[in-house]
Amino acid sequence: MGCPPRRPTQYEHSLGGMMAQTPPWHSIRQRDRNVFHDDDECPIGQEIDIKYRKMGHRCRTRCPTCTKLRAPLLTSERLARLTPL
Ligand SMILES: [Zn+2]
Repeated sequence: MGCPPRRPTQYEHSLGGMMAQTPPWHSIRQRDRNVFHDDDECPIGQEIDIKYRKMGHRCRTRCPTCTKLRAPLLTSERLARLTPL
């Protein structure tokens, strides 16, 4: 199965798994977008019935909403790092 491991982005890498992350999941429903979600807050992901959810990203790209939801978090992480107490 040619599923190359997803390269972590610079941000994800710097986080080093220190926060509890939602493991990636995707919808098996045909009408849903060919993306995976990894944020509990994602409204698109929340709309998907639990019975259509499958774990794993299956080589899909990340849902743009999940990416946006994560962005502010990552920014504050960086700020905290750049501004020591
Ligand atoms: Zn999403």
